[in-house]
Amino acid sequence: MDCSGCNKCTEVRCSIETKCQQLDRNLMDKWGAISYPIYQTATFAHDGFGQSTGYDYTRMQNPTRQQLESIVAYLENGKDALAFSSGMAAIATVMELFKPGDHFIIDEDLYGGSIRLFNEISKKNGLTYTAISLSTEDITPYITEKTKAVYLETPTNPMMNVTDIRKLSKITKEHGLLLIVDNTFLSPYFQNPLNLGADIVVHSGTKFLGGHHDTIGGFVVVKDEELDERIRFIYKTTGAGLSPFDSWLILRGIRTLAVRLDRAQQNALELAEFLKEQEHVTKVIYPGLPEHPGYEIMKKQARGFGAMLTFEVDSAEFAKKILNNVQLIYFAESLGGTETLITYPITQTHADVPKELLEKNGINDRVLRLSVGIEGIRDLKAELTRVFAI
Ligand SMILES: *Cc1c(COP(=O)(O)O)cnc(C)c1O
Repeated sequence: MDCSGCNKCTEVRCSIETKCQQLDRNLMDKWGAISYPIYQTATFAHDGFGQSTGYDYTRMQNPTRQQLESIVAYLENGKDALAFSSGMAAIATVMELFKPGDHFIIDEDLYGGSIRLFNEISKKNGLTYTAISLSTEDITPYITEKTKAVYLETPTNPMMNVTDIRKLSKITKEHGLLLIVDNTFLSPYFQNPLNLGADIVVHSGTKFLGGHHDTIGGFVVVKDEELDERIRFIYKTTGAGLSPFDSWLILRGIRTLAVRLDRAQQNALELAEFLKEQEHVTKVIYPGLPEHPGYEIMKKQARGFGAMLTFEVDSAEFAKKILNNVQLIYFAESLGGTETLITYPITQTHADVPKELLEKNGINDRVLRLSVGIEGIRDLKAELTRVFAI
């Protein structure tokens, strides 16, 4: 057990399930509240000239947000975590580390909003990128003297490609590149990229960390002090920090992260097996299936396979029939909550991704994505059986 970075105790060696329950004792309020208070204040008074409680103004720091940041840093084995008003605000802040002329390499299969950010905002700011398949291609031929970073998700959204983080980090270290990993799909419960050699981890806290589809948030987690200072500076200057109330919601969500993910993962595996047997289902992509090309890498670098699965059906009409007829399962974007959601990437999460890239990645009008929740598995199977038979 690696407890480095933890300041909660000197002796107890916590498992991750326990870590989810631990408040940072150094940040406890003076009454010892176990449900951490929502410090709903914009500013903090000083006792006198030159004195401070450590808090000045909520854009810079707020106790509720700091409690959340401390727990997320603890879960990811980071030195520090920063909580943002959304996952995209977190990723946009990381991109402020770069300057015009800098180049980065990205995986070609990513959350559509990230691709939109790189295309519409980063490009305008003078950054260039090369998109390749990081799960199958070597980055070395794409590195130039301008290359500063590599950005990926593993497994990717929505095609579930798996990249070997440890192996890639050896190359990024050799070339002095920052390795940035979006860990949203697995959450810190199943995977800790910083332990595998990544320099920066980002999260959409909206998803598994929040876990209830009731708030939007994001995180950046780092292990290097100098990098942390640079990101904290951008954060306080551009001002996308998470509000106290939303910080509290995500703090509450994290308490059940372990039990939610265990259950959702079990449901996902059973649904993957079930979908494989269905007549109109032509492909099931779940990294917990032994036939998935990333299965062995997942077993080495993660503690689980997650609750996201993608499948393909034999016609666009059949896909639309599913979307039009689900009742127990919601037809909605987003993922990582207790309810099962079905998403149509081509018109929802990936609507703004260039056509050629969609085609290359196999995202067509027959591809559906499930974020599997914690409902009874019998009910989920009955729901899909009913919809398939319509
Ligand atoms: C949702 C998501 C994001 C964006 O996060 P928001 O909280 O919606 O801004 C980024 N990466 C991945 C993998 C996501 O699923």
